[in-house]
Amino acid sequence: MRLTCKLYLNYAGYCLAKANHAVKGEIQRDIQFKALYGLIEHPVIGWILFDSGYTRRFYDATSNWPNKIYALATKVNVEEQDEIKYQLQKAGISPNEVNHIIISHFHADHIGGLRDFPNAKFYCSRSAWQQVLNISDFFAFSKGILKSLLPQDILERLFFIEDIAVEKYDEIFGKVYDLFNDHSILAFHLPGHAAGQIGIQLQTAQRSYFLVADACWDKRAYELLYFPHPIVKVFFHSWKDYKESIDKLRIYWKKNPTHQIIPSHCSLTTDCFVSANIDMDVL
Ligand SMILES: [Zn+2]
Repeated sequence: MRLTCKLYLNYAGYCLAKANHAVKGEIQRDIQFKALYGLIEHPVIGWILFDSGYTRRFYDATSNWPNKIYALATKVNVEEQDEIKYQLQKAGISPNEVNHIIISHFHADHIGGLRDFPNAKFYCSRSAWQQVLNISDFFAFSKGILKSLLPQDILERLFFIEDIAVEKYDEIFGKVYDLFNDHSILAFHLPGHAAGQIGIQLQTAQRSYFLVADACWDKRAYELLYFPHPIVKVFFHSWKDYKESIDKLRIYWKKNPTHQIIPSHCSLTTDCFVSANIDMDVL
């Protein structure tokens, strides 16, 4: 029997993007890339976050050159009430109670809130962190990374899924990581958009969810093989890996028609799953 968790999804800010960049051939118009996060209630270990959205710290982090280029290229909109910390407190959950944060990858729209959760351990792939270490502070913005958003004590609180999770075999993805060794949350490598990006799969009382972060921006990537505009390749870590991840997601989607795949920025998918107030019994 699969250990079930509870899941809540909502946004923490958004940025403006071009529809025809997200999907080649779309008309040219601005769309909102909403910063999705997942709040998971695990029956034993409590509150877990999947990604941590934008926070207003983005504005400080991009107030000077060269990071200013990031803010000029990516119009971000986040106010206090959009931040996860605020949303949790409104629901009576203290940020101090969040013990675990799974980081899909280190782009600013996924790690903006890390500093609001002083008791959380962080989980990511080894290669995702390696990229953060390897890239210079000066050029990090060009890969979507703003190092000042990271907590100062991150090294003491960061764990690699390859080290701490029980590794299993999956016929589509190869390696799968049983994060808490209880078959509640399974992590998968989904590289391409960013180095070492991961997604997680979990089961609620209602159904299975596969949170795939930015493995694709739009569900039509795995459903119809509609890909982003080639112009975005410069921001991607590896186009080849991206396509391989999409191929795997496509196989997963065909094999598991009752599972809900959740790409972080695909409003077509996510808008019907989010709700303004935290309710752990809907999804
Ligand atoms: Zn993103």
